[in-house]
Amino acid sequence: MSDLPRLRIWEDPAIRRALSWYVAVAENYRPAKFRIAATLPTPLDLASSGEDALWVELDRLTPLFLERWQAIRAGAPLPTPAPGPSLLELCRALSYRMLAHCNFCPWDCRVDRAAGTKLGACKLAAGSRVSAHFHHTGEELFYRGTQGSGTIFFTSCNMRCAFCQNGDISTDKDNGVEANPRVIAAMAWTLRREGCHNINWVGGEVVIHLHAIVDAIALLGRDFTPKPAELARARQTKADRFSAFDERPAAAAYNGKFNVPMLWNSNFFVTPESMKILRVLIDAWLPDFKFGPGRCAMSLAKTPWYWETVTRNLALLAEWDEDFTIRHLVMPNHVDCCTFPVLEWIAGNMPAAPVNVMAQYHPDNFCDPASDKYRPQYAGIARPPLSAELAQSWHRARELGLAFETATFDGRYAISL
Ligand code: SF4
Repeated sequence: MSDLPRLRIWEDPAIRRALSWYVAVAENYRPAKFRIAATLPTPLDLASSGEDALWVELDRLTPLFLERWQAIRAGAPLPTPAPGPSLLELCRALSYRMLAHCNFCPWDCRVDRAAGTKLGACKLAAGSRVSAHFHHTGEELFYRGTQGSGTIFFTSCNMRCAFCQNGDISTDKDNGVEANPRVIAAMAWTLRREGCHNINWVGGEVVIHLHAIVDAIALLGRDFTPKPAELARARQTKADRFSAFDERPAAAAYNGKFNVPMLWNSNFFVTPESMKILRVLIDAWLPDFKFGPGRCAMSLAKTPWYWETVTRNLALLAEWDEDFTIRHLVMPNHVDCCTFPVLEWIAGNMPAAPVNVMAQYHPDNFCDPASDKYRPQYAGIARPPLSAELAQSWHRARELGLAFETATFDGRYAISL
């Protein structure tokens, strides 16, 4: 057991309720979803079956998975893994089928990224690059805990936020180092054995790397042990490699097998197909909800269908009774058009969901007047938010009765019970 459950943040019933599965997996009281998925066999030959047949099989197995998940939540033991292909390998097969006509996100580019002759809006072929991975101590307290969130940063993005706070990663698809699924799995394996409370998949945007991440998770669900060469390659992007972390395999295991909660840290510009695959693999979700229903997603991020996509995916999380928390970044001059409608939608649709109403916006990427990249059309967001804008945002969240104070001001709770 780590110090995570002893932090005062769990005194907040909204946080406790929203993240109960996540904590149980983080503390290895329960197996992660990918371990459960590996126990559900499929009779299909995954290589020779058509894609339609694979989706039908996912639809058949998902209710069985959910029934098993609920039983395990209630204390039932984890059955033994399927000796042959399982729901886990089915998810991997489906994500590679999607890659060949890519519809991971609503751009729906339909390009064959496996062939790589034509690229879509994210500019990626089949390869994935990792910019950095490390024990992240800047995420929300329930994710960073005392040992850090095991964060893996992938390059490129499917949105074009002019103010991106990770512009070096999201706008430069060639940043970092190419990493195949075994190397990515080696990163996750090491971070967890070094004590991280979760594996935090992030970018840029992560859904554009769906095939590589699902493949890495499938490996981790099948007794994966990295080879020395894979560990050496993974180490190239380990930003905290010169810090000393004790490896404790027992702290990364449930019933002797590798275990860790998977955290999906995403802009949530994701298709229903991707969501269906992720549903059986992801233990906790950390979606952004940036823009209101007006034109801001287009004018600031060149992203159509933003509001309808993100609200649909958030509604799915609530309907599926998933563990999740929402992030909203307060932007200068966008309180009325973005912050208020976002908070009001959450209050009207999922009032108990923990929300981090974030104050850390700073002008970056194309919005920084001190940078060569600066574009005057973004003058309206070329400054930090005013104290008054932050105060209005938090006041509105309070008026709406949102569960936001603990996530937003979590430094108050960073002490043990
Ligand atoms: S991930 Fe999205 S942007 Fe990239 S090719 Fe696929 S559909 Fe297009």
